Amino acid sequence: MAFDTRRGEEKQMSVLIIGTGFSGLGMAVRLKQAGIEDFVLLERAQGVGGTWRDNRYPGCACDVQSHLYSFSFELNPDWTRMFAQQPEIERYLQGVADKYELLPHVRFGANVSAARWDEAAALWRVTTQDGRTFAGRVLVSGMGALSNPAFPKIPGLADFKGKLFHSAQWDHDYDLKGKRVAVIGTGASAIQFVPQIVPKVAHLDLYQRTPPWIMPKPDRPISAFERKLFRLLPFTQKLMRAGLYAFLETRVLGFVVNPKIMTLVQKTAQRHMKRQVPDPELRRKLTPDYTIGCKRVLISDDYYPALTQKHVDVITSDVSEIRANAVVTADGTVREVDAIILGTGFTVQDPVPRGAIFGRGGKDLWDSWSEKGVEAYLGTSVHGFPNFFMLMGPNTGLGHTSQVFMIESQIRYVMDCIRTMRSQKLRTVDVRADVQKRFNDKVQGTVSSAIWNSGGCKSWYLDARGRNTTIWPGFTFVFRNKTRHFKTEKYAVEAETSSATRA
Ligand SMILES: Cc1cc2nc3c(=O)[nH]c(=O)nc-3n(C[C@H](O)[C@H](O)[C@H](O)COP(=O)(O)OP(=O)(O)OC[C@H]3O[C@@H](n4cnc5c(N)ncnc54)[C@H](O)[C@@H]3O)c2cc1C
Repeated sequence: MAFDTRRGEEKQMSVLIIGTGFSGLGMAVRLKQAGIEDFVLLERAQGVGGTWRDNRYPGCACDVQSHLYSFSFELNPDWTRMFAQQPEIERYLQGVADKYELLPHVRFGANVSAARWDEAAALWRVTTQDGRTFAGRVLVSGMGALSNPAFPKIPGLADFKGKLFHSAQWDHDYDLKGKRVAVIGTGASAIQFVPQIVPKVAHLDLYQRTPPWIMPKPDRPISAFERKLFRLLPFTQKLMRAGLYAFLETRVLGFVVNPKIMTLVQKTAQRHMKRQVPDPELRRKLTPDYTIGCKRVLISDDYYPALTQKHVDVITSDVSEIRANAVVTADGTVREVDAIILGTGFTVQDPVPRGAIFGRGGKDLWDSWSEKGVEAYLGTSVHGFPNFFMLMGPNTGLGHTSQVFMIESQIRYVMDCIRTMRSQKLRTVDVRADVQKRFNDKVQGTVSSAIWNSGGCKSWYLDARGRNTTIWPGFTFVFRNKTRHFKTEKYAVEAETSSATRA
């Protein structure tokens, strides 16, 4: 069907992409490289970068080495540290958008409110909160698994009269100097910003529900010589990237193959804590009661030293209530504060929100998951949602290496699908229900004995039923192999009619 002016739609596109983080930008680059120009990127914010545009808290950095945590097609010889800080990663992604001339394709301020499959026209029709509409043959979600901050449901939180913000919405205009500050949460973000704010604040109460395991951080500046070498002899950087990839991949042996290996890793983490925390009482509070790896393993050399400062208290009693100027814990203690910073992470169990994606028969994607929980074929396709692909979908998260490797694998797969649709003149592709079920039965079978499910913790990797819908339980090269080629026999396909337009 041609572009329908009555709907006020932009020209009909081959591909609509939601999001401009690593996923959306990577997808767009590959489309351009394949000579496909009729696509748009719908981005709710006013800039590109996703995670690395939003998370501006002090100390924000990646925890996978930058030489690996970057696109394979856009190596950056100029990383200044092994683990680059947020501003450098955001600049890198902005640089990718500039170099590949993606900005003319981006519609900023386009907060997608709903995407609906139009069966008659075989098109995705997308509406944004400001009333714009878009139509496309293929819809790719790069909405990110960690893009919506999670706010804890604590009685009285809304009535707090001091300063309150989430780490992903850091208020840099608020001066923490001399303030009494409560930090709620001790996850990946908190362990990065707590050491940065401890020297400024008058007092810090750190509310910890479950302590993380923390390993030493092998960070260092990358010398001018190394950077020159990477620029002049690009294969040296490729070699370094390959070495990092191979090294990090060995971690799967402990996570999945034989969780007993993790006890050795745990000893290193225990030694790290013992070296940095002399006080046995504080060590007791900071020692997790689950096997390392069950929750995300964190890396830091400055978190423990920050907690040993006299003006820092680690509080392990649950937060029960927030009052106008204080935090109250289950043991009845009331601690007055000027500011509360939420380090409470993201709504990770919702890869896309309810009420956003409607497939065949107007079915909400969430309703298709109501029986078995969140799942997709290869973390990418869902039965009943033709021509729709999720990047960083269910069971594509990682605990051991770079997420960008998974994102690029999925992008290759979607590109192969688009190529196949074009060459075989296919109007729709819809993954078969039995294929999706077989794939997920296998994933759940593997993940159920892995450390994330068996390590004795309750983490954001697991849903309310205790099903791990987040993590890819295996080597990433296995995922890369599975996503190498789009196989039409796994999908119900419909051929184009002569009047139909192509993907
Ligand atoms: C602080 C932090 C540190 C991390 N460090 C690492 C690391 O070291 N290594 C690693 O492998 N992974 C890390 N991650 C995970 C990280 O999220 C992924 O590596 C990667 O950045 C995800 O990219 P993405 O494009 O899929 O999603 P995002 O970067 O989250 O981008 C999603 C985009 O979609 C947009 N969007 C969402 N909903 C809508 C909507 N309805 N309409 C329009 N636009 C929408 C958002 O505005 C955003 O721009 C980290 C995550 C966080 C939060």
